[in-house]
Amino acid sequence: MDNGTVLVELHNVMKWFPVQQGFMASLLSRGRIDYVRAVDGVSFEIKKGEVFGLVGESGSGKTTIGRLVLRLLEPTDGQVIFDGVDLATLSDEEMRRLRSRMQIIFQDPLASLNPRMTIGQAIAHPVEIHYRKRAQHKRKIVSEMLEQVGLTPAQQFYDKYPHQLSGGQRQRVTIARALVTHPDLILADEPIAMADVSLRALLLHLLKRLKQDLNLTYLFITHDLATAKYICDRIGVMYLGKIVEIGSLQQVFSNPVHPYTRALLSAVPVPDPRARRTQALPHGEIPSPIHPPSGCHFHPRCPIAQDICKREVPETLNVAGQPGHMASCHLRTGHYQHLDPERPPGDVA
Ligand code: SF4
Repeated sequence: MDNGTVLVELHNVMKWFPVQQGFMASLLSRGRIDYVRAVDGVSFEIKKGEVFGLVGESGSGKTTIGRLVLRLLEPTDGQVIFDGVDLATLSDEEMRRLRSRMQIIFQDPLASLNPRMTIGQAIAHPVEIHYRKRAQHKRKIVSEMLEQVGLTPAQQFYDKYPHQLSGGQRQRVTIARALVTHPDLILADEPIAMADVSLRALLLHLLKRLKQDLNLTYLFITHDLATAKYICDRIGVMYLGKIVEIGSLQQVFSNPVHPYTRALLSAVPVPDPRARRTQALPHGEIPSPIHPPSGCHFHPRCPIAQDICKREVPETLNVAGQPGHMASCHLRTGHYQHLDPERPPGDVA
């Protein structure tokens, strides 16, 4: 696989879920349907061989985007393109064949493994679905995969059941199951969130090594910027269904411009107990995605919000002098940079 070409493209993708209403509520609303705007106009691309991270608080729409990329959900609007093919144009059978090239690692390995299937059966299952001819060699294929994810000797694990393994071993099994069809894209949805702290670094290291060895591309979903910093090449920061800042790891970590990104970074623990935080976390909860705030959705929590932020939706614009680094903020990349209270005096946009 050649690095540098695009594997995944999202163009202005939206996913709105209708809100179920009770009888009385539907009478009172006179039939008006409310929608949860889980994903609200998201665009980005992932290059082959890249790790693209989506970060943000829970409820920001990260997981919904992951499911849209795998067409486990249909977008309300917009386009999802995989390796040049618009997924909306594929029949169910074409999509089934394409799925062998896109696999998922879930957050909770225990919930994602069938308790009645042995480890060998669980890992062989995708091979039986996608490559029936190769299924006769499944014991060999599964054993090689177990070795690759560090479950050695493979015979010791092949006939065991999920409950007989530790949490870290189970997550290695789900990684093996995702890789057994030799996919191009892995959707890793909070893959280490449920692991013990001591295991997280090992699993991240494993995912990084497998990416190199097998030339994989990851869409890596996490709420934790420290995890993203370890593994991602580029990052998109999500807030209430939108990407508010996107750029390379270096750009986002060294020069975060959006107040939300800065607040998230201020929450990343540092290993120095004497180090002090200088920036406050965003106060309050994420607002309702059914009735998001007017203008910039972040304005009720933003420490530098101005009146314009309540009135106008900010455009996503380039950060000056940083190709590929973009943010949606009136005061940082938009036309109202002179209103930024944190701007040094005399600094003209
Ligand atoms: Fe804050 Fe306004 Fe920028 Fe939104 S547009 S992040 S409210 S300064």
